[in-house]
Amino acid sequence: MTATRQIIRNGQVLDPERRTVEAADILIQGDAILELGPPGLDAPEDAAVIDAADRLLMPGLVNAHTHGHGSLSKGYGDKWSLELLLNAAPWIGGGLTLEGQYLAARLNAAEMVLKGCTAAYDMFFQFPEASLESISAVAQGYTEVGIRAAIAPMMADTTFYQAIPGLLDSLPEPHRAHAEALQAAPWEAHIEGCRALLQGWPGDRDQVRPALGPTIPMHCTDDFILACRDLAWDYEVGLQMHLGESKLQAVAGLKRYGKSLTAHLDALDFLGPNFTGAHSIWLDDDDVQRLADRGANVAHNPGSNLRLGNGVAPARRMLDAGVTVGIGTDGSSSGDHQNMVEAMRMAAFASRLMDIEPDSWLGSWDVLRAGTLGGAALLGMAGQIGRIAPGYKADIAFVDLTNVAFVPLNDAANQIVNCADGSAIDSVMIGGRMVLQGRRFTSLNFDELRRDAQVMADTLRSRNADTRGQLEAMAEYVSHHCVGLACEGYHAHRRIDEGRA
Ligand SMILES: [Zn+2]
Repeated sequence: MTATRQIIRNGQVLDPERRTVEAADILIQGDAILELGPPGLDAPEDAAVIDAADRLLMPGLVNAHTHGHGSLSKGYGDKWSLELLLNAAPWIGGGLTLEGQYLAARLNAAEMVLKGCTAAYDMFFQFPEASLESISAVAQGYTEVGIRAAIAPMMADTTFYQAIPGLLDSLPEPHRAHAEALQAAPWEAHIEGCRALLQGWPGDRDQVRPALGPTIPMHCTDDFILACRDLAWDYEVGLQMHLGESKLQAVAGLKRYGKSLTAHLDALDFLGPNFTGAHSIWLDDDDVQRLADRGANVAHNPGSNLRLGNGVAPARRMLDAGVTVGIGTDGSSSGDHQNMVEAMRMAAFASRLMDIEPDSWLGSWDVLRAGTLGGAALLGMAGQIGRIAPGYKADIAFVDLTNVAFVPLNDAANQIVNCADGSAIDSVMIGGRMVLQGRRFTSLNFDELRRDAQVMADTLRSRNADTRGQLEAMAEYVSHHCVGLACEGYHAHRRIDEGRA
């Protein structure tokens, strides 16, 4: 049981708001921080003492964009573009049972906690349609590990093959027949499932909260997007959608809508403070301004963006325009890991590809802020998580300053971003409860989870073998068509190979 009152002494507290690292003691009552003060802070006699000598106390990192279902398919694919990944999606992640979804969520949560993350925004794939049962299994997985999450059913009412102009027609037989046989659920079925989910949400919303995730503009009809918008407003929940993730999407969006993807969503009145555009790479300056004007947010996923060859999002431009930016890992099937420490470093480094002027780069404090307070705002938890300060939840990552990344200790903020790799995370407290202590979970048996995950992954591999065969044979045609379409050009440049970043 969580002690009613706890005092953390002898630590160095990192504050992304004030951009400081200072020696301070932290008094915790229940699940929240009651007081922060200089070393030797008065504490009630009954307060349990936690010694944080040689520890940097960092606000728990907030993963702004992940896909829990991807945890069982990490490491698949090598030179995969986003489109090749979407073509492979039915065999790398299809056929996940309820038990598999629960397991995948636990594995995803476990990896995040190990890397100092205490909350996440998860778009969890739903097939054939969103359901309360499925998202409840995911919520249970997260809750058992102890991490906070906003869980958005990831939904489409149009298949990838229908969404990309000309793709179906470009496929020779029998591939076209295979692609045509794949069907998405009608949007009304998704909305019905989502309504049941929002009405019957089982959990404590400070722990796990529902959101909605129509996945990609062209994979969702306008009727579906509008229905999600209205449902989100009615139930006061967040909306997350992949936005301009690949150049192909930007080019195809322009063909489909006669305007940019962002402009199209804006015309549908879809953008608002409850909206987060995941990736948001292929946005021009007007699009960035649209997001800023609507108070919308962005989940920046630099590692996944580089992995899939999508380019670099204009994060500095977004921050300068006043857009709230969080940092995400993306799912493990596209980002390969759930390491928010690494994601912050990638965000800092990727910004250096965009401009020669060092002042315009993202610095350590910029990415620390985005990785904590930025993500907190996206989850609708601004003022509750993302900082170690009175009134905030006691979500704290204990970073081991005896780890070689901090030897010698010169500048803790620079070193957590530029030197550390996640292995320096020693313990993690969420809501006053030690979920990870000395790199060991208190909330789950990792050996058991590892065995279960391997069995499930092996089962999925054999279950999806036929689908894999079909889709792998189709991959070269899909890639050829998509690359050809993307090469038609776009007025914003987000890849170095286009000569101007
Ligand atoms: Zn994603």
